[in-house]
Amino acid sequence: MDNERRTVEAMVALYCRVHHGGTGDLCDGCSSLVAYARLRLAGCPYQQRKPTCGRCPIHCYKPELRLKIIEVMRFAGPRMFLHHPILAIRHMRDRFRKIPPLPHKKPIREQ
Ligand SMILES: [Zn+2]
Repeated sequence: MDNERRTVEAMVALYCRVHHGGTGDLCDGCSSLVAYARLRLAGCPYQQRKPTCGRCPIHCYKPELRLKIIEVMRFAGPRMFLHHPILAIRHMRDRFRKIPPLPHKKPIREQ
């Protein structure tokens, strides 16, 4: 969970630096994206058992921010190994974990 949050933050930071010419501080758009990602992570029903967001069956991001985060991940994903190898490896390991069943999931009944 914490790892996922740090991964998202590191990815957005990388993306911002290259695309928005930042010098370490995130631009307004990117910092609100990170703030939103944190909020979504905090509200994730999976919490510690959460699969990585890319594989999460709950698409909890608003459509426009979802597109934005996908763009960020597509750009920063491969670069993560260079800049944050430990985070990237942990993230990869998490990706291959089985997706746990949703907690408190109600059985779906046929109408
Ligand atoms: Zn930015």
